[in-house]
Amino acid sequence: MIRYSLLLIALFFTKMISAQPIFEKSDTLRGSLNENRDWFDILKYDITVTPNFDNKTIQGTVAWKAKVNKLGEKIQVDLQQPLVIDSIVLFRINPAPQEAFKLHAAPFKRDNNIAIVEVTEKLNIGDEFMLLIAYHGKPREAVKPPWDGGWIWKKDGNGKPWVSVACQGLGASVWYPCKDHQSDEPEEGASVNIYIPDSLGIIAVSNGRPVKEEKLMRSVINGVTNNHLINFKWEVKNPINNYNIIPYIGDYISWSETYPGLKGELDVSYYALREDSLKARIQFTQVPKMLKAFEYWMGPYPFYEDGYKLIQAPHLGMEHQSAVAYGNKFENGYLGRDLSGSGWGKKWDFIIVHESGHEWFANNISTKDIADNWVHEGFTNYTETLFTEYYYGAKAGNEYNYGTRKGISNRTPIIGPYGVNGEGSGDMYSKGGNLLHTIRHSINNDKRFRSILTGLNENFYHKTVTTKEIEDYISLYGKFNFSKVFDQYLRTTQIPVFSYTIDRIEKLLTYQWRNCVPGFDLPLNFNYFGNQISLRPIEFVPQKISFKNESFDIDEFIKELELMYYVKAVEERN
Ligand SMILES: [Zn+2]
Repeated sequence: MIRYSLLLIALFFTKMISAQPIFEKSDTLRGSLNENRDWFDILKYDITVTPNFDNKTIQGTVAWKAKVNKLGEKIQVDLQQPLVIDSIVLFRINPAPQEAFKLHAAPFKRDNNIAIVEVTEKLNIGDEFMLLIAYHGKPREAVKPPWDGGWIWKKDGNGKPWVSVACQGLGASVWYPCKDHQSDEPEEGASVNIYIPDSLGIIAVSNGRPVKEEKLMRSVINGVTNNHLINFKWEVKNPINNYNIIPYIGDYISWSETYPGLKGELDVSYYALREDSLKARIQFTQVPKMLKAFEYWMGPYPFYEDGYKLIQAPHLGMEHQSAVAYGNKFENGYLGRDLSGSGWGKKWDFIIVHESGHEWFANNISTKDIADNWVHEGFTNYTETLFTEYYYGAKAGNEYNYGTRKGISNRTPIIGPYGVNGEGSGDMYSKGGNLLHTIRHSINNDKRFRSILTGLNENFYHKTVTTKEIEDYISLYGKFNFSKVFDQYLRTTQIPVFSYTIDRIEKLLTYQWRNCVPGFDLPLNFNYFGNQISLRPIEFVPQKISFKNESFDIDEFIKELELMYYVKAVEERN
């Protein structure tokens, strides 16, 4: 009786824990391309914002330039509460209106974190239009940036405002009205125009390059008169993820250099707080090293037109395109720690390496749905191994990669639910990196593996993708069908078990797969002591290999196998 009821309680709790997350209408509105979003393509965002450091409010205008792909009647604008939309104006820009026209306010209806705008203008397929949105209010303040994001209103050691935003996952609509879906990047880039009181002696930095810095003795913004403002305008020419468009405001000192890269001269600049600029000048010398290793492995830095910037931020760090956020306290490791425990992670600055690695995977190649974000985090996690290997050798890379496995929980799959703005498990980082390490060794040809990494960055240059496109590309150019391998590691929590027995006298290894998805096929290739060894285990079908003539230890061989492949080797004892 007691046992039975305990079992029931246990069952009840198991059910609660394993219950699927419940998604609401707002998740679907945010995460899917519904009929108010799918008929137009965003070409450009022009953002103008004036922050008020005293009451932590902003006021601004955002202009969307967009193109009509099919006929639509309404537009969904994402802007999170409690920000207020003052007015919206919509007009066609291409073809240009024939005669002088008057701007009309477009009627809109606010519904929680969105607004639905009526399209009152006649728009045909191929037309371009402009949507102007004036808004204001107190944006969500970050709780624990960058993970629990929003506006960050900090002060530096001298009491000057130090302000930025972190909004990955949360969404850029936390601070500016946009089409908050990862599939639609503005192809022509974005501009960020920031107004700050001149008297504060601080500057504003954003993505891309500065296009304007001017003092305004008196200006009227959204009907409010401001005295002595200074206006900083930045512009990024390349397509960019919404969440990557970020202002940084503070008492920054900047310096720059030119990096002789694969596509010519790359403008590299650095921004650090006045009080930290000395430490930054030393720590940031890791940037050219990072560029060298990453251009070797993944091809040219993807945004030469916009340059590369590393900017000290009031949070740990984020991959903001061409304006990478840095907050790692000018120390090597991850806040001084080595996430791999192998020792190699203390040789370099985690934030410089990881967040910059995202310029290739996340910023150059972005996923359409955040459910596929392993393409961002798995590949970028693997750039840490590649960086380690480039400077410290293959053994170091293997050890770093192996060390990151201890953080893998295997509780839920890496790929999340589609259409609801839902990410998969945090395992997308190190398990994603270990999946790539596994595939790389199975291919067993580093020239080919490197050409896959550079090829992905060329083929999907400035594009948004699905995981399927990435998986197919790797199978095609890896010259092996890895689809079941991707299914196993991305869509289940099962880790393949390499189950084996050793006949030590006969030097005979008997092996098979266990715990696999049906049809799982992962050839295990090795170059071991100058020998090319290929094992092709099959689930539940024991196979044998004789090492009689080889001069190595089978136990050492098993250790090597686990270092190069993310599998669990289990010796079956009779
Ligand atoms: Zn990352």
